[in-house]
Amino acid sequence: MSGFKTTLIDCQACGRRIMVRAADAERGSIACSHLGCGAVNILSAAFQYDENIVHGLPAFGKLTYLGDSQLIYPLQFGRNTLGTSDACTVQLNRFMHNGRCYISRRHCTLTVTFDKWTGQLRYHLQDGAVDNQAQTHQYSLNGTRLNATPLQKTEIVDVENGGIFTLGGVDSFRLSHYVIPSAMLDTYKVELDFNPDRTQ
Ligand SMILES: [Zn+2]
Repeated sequence: MSGFKTTLIDCQACGRRIMVRAADAERGSIACSHLGCGAVNILSAAFQYDENIVHGLPAFGKLTYLGDSQLIYPLQFGRNTLGTSDACTVQLNRFMHNGRCYISRRHCTLTVTFDKWTGQLRYHLQDGAVDNQAQTHQYSLNGTRLNATPLQKTEIVDVENGGIFTLGGVDSFRLSHYVIPSAMLDTYKVELDFNPDRTQ
């Protein structure tokens, strides 16, 4: 293990920093040292993906309205605010049900990030959105559900490919991830310092 440098990685479970020493790299795994986590991070696949890959992607996923599959809303990288306001990143139609619209002007936030470990995009959903003027997070009037389970206030959940979320209890949307092609991913692979094969 000559040439091994002690290095920090992000725990794949909790996201906090953990220190990798030569002995961990030799063993091929490390248990997260943070209280309440303890997840075993596998080090044998000692590479990650360069997040600059996102600059070359043609799309970042989309939402399809379940009430009308012609209604498709494209997403952007980073924070997407969803609601009926024209100030939203994704302005939704004012779907009327018995004369009422159940979607708030700024209803929920869907954040698209790049997971450098899996090399794929991740989608996090939270009820409500940050109000640009007040700079505070304001929740929707009628709530957000993911796969029929109501989100608690302040809860942030991962939405899988094909996951369905419902706004205001009435209007549902299916999320389609943008899946990064593996041929493209290969060109953005980055070897990490703790790769046990990398000796000098
Ligand atoms: Zn952890």
